[in-house]
Amino acid sequence: GAKARGRNSIHYFTEQMRTDFLKRMEIIQNLRSALNKQQFHMVYQPIVDLTNNKIIKAEALIRWQHPEIGAISPLDFIPLAEETGLICDISDWIFNQVSQQVKHWREHYCPELMISINTSPVQYRNQGRQITNWAELLKKQGLEQQAIAIEITENLLMENQSQVISVLDQVRQQGVAIAIDDFGTGYCSFSYLKNYTIDYLKIDKSFVQNMATDNKDAALCQAIIVMANKLGIDVIAEGIETEQQKQLLMQAGCHLGQGYLLAKPMKQQEFEQLLIQEQSKT
Ligand code: C2E
Ligand code: MG
Ligand code: MG
Ligand code: MG
Repeated sequence: GAKARGRNSIHYFTEQMRTDFLKRMEIIQNLRSALNKQQFHMVYQPIVDLTNNKIIKAEALIRWQHPEIGAISPLDFIPLAEETGLICDISDWIFNQVSQQVKHWREHYCPELMISINTSPVQYRNQGRQITNWAELLKKQGLEQQAIAIEITENLLMENQSQVISVLDQVRQQGVAIAIDDFGTGYCSFSYLKNYTIDYLKIDKSFVQNMATDNKDAALCQAIIVMANKLGIDVIAEGIETEQQKQLLMQAGCHLGQGYLLAKPMKQQEFEQLLIQEQSKT
């Protein structure tokens, strides 16, 4: 126990907790003003058709550049934004940025472009008002045809089933695609694949990255792909870093992928250049 490790280890432990706490508080305080101070921007990571290398989809990812602290990872601040409820305002900002971008890109470079946006369970409270509002706004902009996908986590599907079903059904009917993010890492239950209509299933990068070296991970990836294909759900493999992983995924019947091998998340201008290149290929 802690006592057996002596005074110093106890002291060290509380010191660590103190710095963690102060770091959290510092991030939360800065997070409150980050939107107004325009410290956020979006980056876009292409989702590639593995069979022909075409880019017709991307995932939007938030970046926070603080003038003194520097870049703060979404892994560090998104959970705090969720705890404090700030995620709702931040997500509305994200939605506005991304929907304007996708409209512009569809009109000029790629009519079938789809951009996916990560969403948090908090956003599905209050009858999922925030998400149903997004669908309305997309409709007003003429962006009904799967211009936007929302990424949800498995854990959302486990809580408040009937409300979440009705929100997802409603926005899906209005043309928003639904993707399950990080599939296989949450409270996985096959029943929700039956009860919900889902368009995309994103295999978590932890499975993909061990595919070539671990038979169990390879088996899980293959089984997920077969199951999804039979259910009529498109699979997107996340975190593809090697040619070998890409080949194994394609052999297993997965045709969409995302990862550093294919492209890193990039600024809006850079992604636009890619779309222009794609356009000139055809
Ligand atoms: P996610 O939704 O699963 O996003 C994929 C993450 O994997 C991104 O990290 C991306 O940069 C990273 N990634 C892509 N390809 C590779 C690869 O080949 N290898 C490795 N190791 N990583 C790869 P990022 O941007 O740091 O985001 C981390 C998480 O933070 C996201 O995981 C998502 O849960 C959350 N997040 C990011 N942006 C947003 C946002 O706009 N809204 C919300 N609610 N959450 C966000
Ligand atoms: Mg995601
Ligand atoms: Mg996510
Ligand atoms: Mg993911």
